[in-house]
Amino acid sequence: MENTSKDVSNIEVNASGFYDEIEIEDMEFDEDRRVYTYPCPCGDKFVISEEDLMQGEEIARCPSCSLIIRVIYETEESDEDDDLLGLEGVSQLVIVS
Ligand SMILES: [Zn+2]
Repeated sequence: MENTSKDVSNIEVNASGFYDEIEIEDMEFDEDRRVYTYPCPCGDKFVISEEDLMQGEEIARCPSCSLIIRVIYETEESDEDDDLLGLEGVSQLVIVS
C-alpha cells in the first residue's frame, strides 16, 4: 500500500481548473507559518496563507506539482434576514382595488 506516491498525471482536473474545492474547516492550520494546508495527492500539501485568505485569495497551491484547489470559506456577510419586514409596515399595507 503506497498511498503517498500516486502518479499525479493521472488525476483529472475538473472543468473549472481546480483539482478540488475544500472547505476551510477541512484544512489544517499551521500556527507557526500562519498557513492553511490540505493534503495533495502527490504527497505534498496545498498551501494558502492566512494573509492571502484575508485579501480574498481563495486558491491554494501545491508547491510540488501544478495542482490547485479552491478554498471555500464563510465571508463576513451575514444572511439576509427578514427582520425589516417584521413588526411595522405590514399593518400599514392597504390594497386598493
Ligand atoms: Zn501536489
